[in-house]
Amino acid sequence: MADESMDECVVCGKRVSTSWRGSVHRADDDGKYRCVCLACANAEVAAKLEISYTPPTLADVTLHDRDGVAHTFMFVERLSPGGKSVVGFERGEAEGYQAQALSEDYEANAVSLQHAAVRKLARSLSRRELEHDGQLPLDAPVRGRISWDRDNAAPAIIIGGRLITWERFGEMFATYEGFHFILEMYDHSDER
Ligand SMILES: [Zn+2]
Repeated sequence: MADESMDECVVCGKRVSTSWRGSVHRADDDGKYRCVCLACANAEVAAKLEISYTPPTLADVTLHDRDGVAHTFMFVERLSPGGKSVVGFERGEAEGYQAQALSEDYEANAVSLQHAAVRKLARSLSRRELEHDGQLPLDAPVRGRISWDRDNAAPAIIIGGRLITWERFGEMFATYEGFHFILEMYDHSDER
């Protein structure tokens, strides 16, 4: 999972990361998913909505977590039928911390959205989701993100910027055999 897989954009031919930071997977009429680079995907949405679009240049931001460890983030802008969003991804990590700020207004300022994403990232970095020994806490919520572990062809869970395999996640639950729990999903542009 550490190595990012690359694919060719079906529109411009550029080789891009197939992860969410480099491309989108578009379902075409034949039902097959194809890789489209972010620039082409944004241009397609802009053309459909008949709006003019210039991709912004967003500077990297470095934040420190509660242990003083530095995390550097890159930011990309994405246009979708739901609006404009800026997503921050951790550099040097295939997964890591991530945050998205969304506006329904296509005229929204990209730097303002980036600031909103940075505030979310800072809040994530200030929290300790798991106990020191890596176990799930008792009587406290745990926030995470659902991803896909290609190596094991199984879901992967990202908690506190760390990838936890599905198998390991199961072991973490086994510690609490007999306990009850609440599980709640929410959209990645929301924050709880
Ligand atoms: Zn392209």
